[in-house]
Amino acid sequence: CSGRGVSESTAARARSVMPGGVNSGQRSIPGLEDLVITRARGSRFQDDTGKEYIDFHAAFGPPILGHNDPDVAAAVAHAARTVDLCGVGVTDAEVQLAEVLVDLVPSIEKALLTSTGSEATFHALRVARAATGRRLVVKFQGCYHGWHDSVSLNVISAPGRVGRHDPISAGILPEVLEATLVLPFNDEDAVRRTFEAHGRDIAAVIVEPVPHNVGCLLPTPSFLQTLREATQKHGSVLVFDEVITGFRHDLGGWQRISGVTPDLTTLGKAIANGYPIGAIGGRADLMDMFSSRPGGPAFFAGTYNGAPAVVAAAVATLTKLRNEPVHEHIFGLGGRIRTALRDLYAEIGVPAVVTGYGSIFVTYFMSGGVPRSYEDLLANRGDLFVGYRRRLVKRGVFELPLELKRSHVSYAHTDDDVDRLLEATREAVLETLQFDGVEEAGVARTMGGVTR
Ligand code: PMP
Repeated sequence: CSGRGVSESTAARARSVMPGGVNSGQRSIPGLEDLVITRARGSRFQDDTGKEYIDFHAAFGPPILGHNDPDVAAAVAHAARTVDLCGVGVTDAEVQLAEVLVDLVPSIEKALLTSTGSEATFHALRVARAATGRRLVVKFQGCYHGWHDSVSLNVISAPGRVGRHDPISAGILPEVLEATLVLPFNDEDAVRRTFEAHGRDIAAVIVEPVPHNVGCLLPTPSFLQTLREATQKHGSVLVFDEVITGFRHDLGGWQRISGVTPDLTTLGKAIANGYPIGAIGGRADLMDMFSSRPGGPAFFAGTYNGAPAVVAAAVATLTKLRNEPVHEHIFGLGGRIRTALRDLYAEIGVPAVVTGYGSIFVTYFMSGGVPRSYEDLLANRGDLFVGYRRRLVKRGVFELPLELKRSHVSYAHTDDDVDRLLEATREAVLETLQFDGVEEAGVARTMGGVTR
């Protein structure tokens, strides 16, 4: 990205005062280190050279209504004129939001608000340990649950006892990681065997019901039910991390789609269309362990929890999701994209598995059926996955050029946006095959650098 003038200097200034030049992992992308965003509206964002992108990355998922949705913006502006963070008591909007969560999400009898998804998963595991008096947490390969220590391992960390595997960060006590067991997703036998061996020590099982942090692994029909049965039998807490699936796939989350009700649910991303808010909810007896009074027994706090502007954003987002045909629209476009991409790859003779759900889509460049575990994704040709997306970006269509990342459709996307996506994808894939010297098969994978 040379010759970007102003943007280069902004990015350079960023790098001199901000470690890595960005405020979150995976925002600085190889080849796009100088990207400076200046505007965002609807299905598009713009950089400081004036170049416009149709945005299918969607900030990893929050703007389900599209960027800067006018109804959400109006609700935030109204809150800003009316009330502000006072740090005492409660506002009516916080109660309204908790009531909506109780109403919509099957597992939620009581709810609390956080500022991020990571805080929600942190508190879920803390209260599970508090309630059971046990140490161990089970997670699954391919799932990401945030940056805190218990779950801070590489999303592709192999099954086995953690500690020797890929912590995502230095500075974590080994005994914390050793208390996390990693199992392969969709492997019911592994779940049963682990509970036979360690059941009395397992405080919680935490799972993305659809692991979207490696694109999309759909659960087999009985896998989530097996988790429910094993946790019930052994007295462990089942946590569905619905930070991605919640509201995007169904107003009641994947738990409503699957009919499997966890004990606790964590939410974030699409709940407020991009404003910083998360939530934890679930069984009243577990949630009641969080007391605002010292001595708890489980401590829960946060200066910004329930901040009026972000709560207003969440209430407005959920109201719009309930009252307008948002899911009909985004599922329609998502379905159209998946079908058209399958046709495209068949036509140009490129082995590809196009998968996803509803508004989420991803193409793995490999043969075979729908992947069910991370192991299945080892066949994905990373060079083509990243290569065509880099070329898409040049054409003004933004899918994140990092391996295994999913893409999202919002209420603001149109059929014209999808036409452009399909046209640009055809050109980008053909060009990648031609100019990167990528052979039709047998090209070395480049999976090594994936962290989540
Ligand atoms: N859980 C899941 C499933 C996620 O995808 C993420 C974020 N990618 C988190 C938790 C953490 O959320 P946050 O980044 O808001 O802390």
